[in-house]
Amino acid sequence: MKVITVPCLFDNYAYIIVNRKSAEAAVVDPSEAWPVMRELDKRGLALTTVFCTHHHHDHIGGIDDLLEVYDDLRIIGFGQDQQRIPLITEALEDGGEFFLWDTRGQLYHTPGHTTNSVVYHLGDCLFTGDTMFGAGCGRLFEGTPRQMAASLQRISSCSPQTSLYFGHEYTALNLRFAALLEPDNQAIQARQQKTEQYRASNVPTSPSLLEEELQTNPFLRVTEPKLMAYLKEHHALQADDPESVFALVRELRNTFS
Ligand code: ZN
Ligand code: FE
Repeated sequence: MKVITVPCLFDNYAYIIVNRKSAEAAVVDPSEAWPVMRELDKRGLALTTVFCTHHHHDHIGGIDDLLEVYDDLRIIGFGQDQQRIPLITEALEDGGEFFLWDTRGQLYHTPGHTTNSVVYHLGDCLFTGDTMFGAGCGRLFEGTPRQMAASLQRISSCSPQTSLYFGHEYTALNLRFAALLEPDNQAIQARQQKTEQYRASNVPTSPSLLEEELQTNPFLRVTEPKLMAYLKEHHALQADDPESVFALVRELRNTFS
């Protein structure tokens, strides 16, 4: 499956999924229409489908403008969020399956960033919205640490070869935070170097491989003894169950800059 990463707004990414045979395309989280339309036009693609991961404007803000240009768009989203995303034409439930051309996909409800955030699993691609980022995860605007930890656990259980397409370019800062918590983790250091090179030439760090996230993303590493030891020593971690570790890591990340 061919996926084109489209930078939008300041640090958002929309993703165009291409059907080469029919010259049709789908888009995930179009925060604005014009960068998406420019890519579609350049490649002679017709947009048929939109995927929404959650209701925030920097993920669905471009849909109205796309509707002015493309008729009959299929707009896929989570049934429980239809009130906040009234443009949805195809509402799916948790675990709900859909077809994009010949490829079977599935929606997973992943609460945490918002109550009704979802991710889309399509082939070996996972579109994570603001649930998970490169070496990080979304802020808990509506959900609890317990919910977000469970949502990330669900993502972690996908094949390690899954490509993760995330909603924002926060990877460099996330890795600086990760390196602080795990100073001896060489995978984090290697990823930091790679990320610096990418960003210096303005190349997106998305997609990443789940395999790499499992080695470098502190939010997926809440059972790591060294990470827990660091938190006990420097931040008075009380309980060492995954939820408590997750909650503390999230809290520390909120004020890290
Ligand atoms: Zn968001
Ligand atoms: Fe966002």
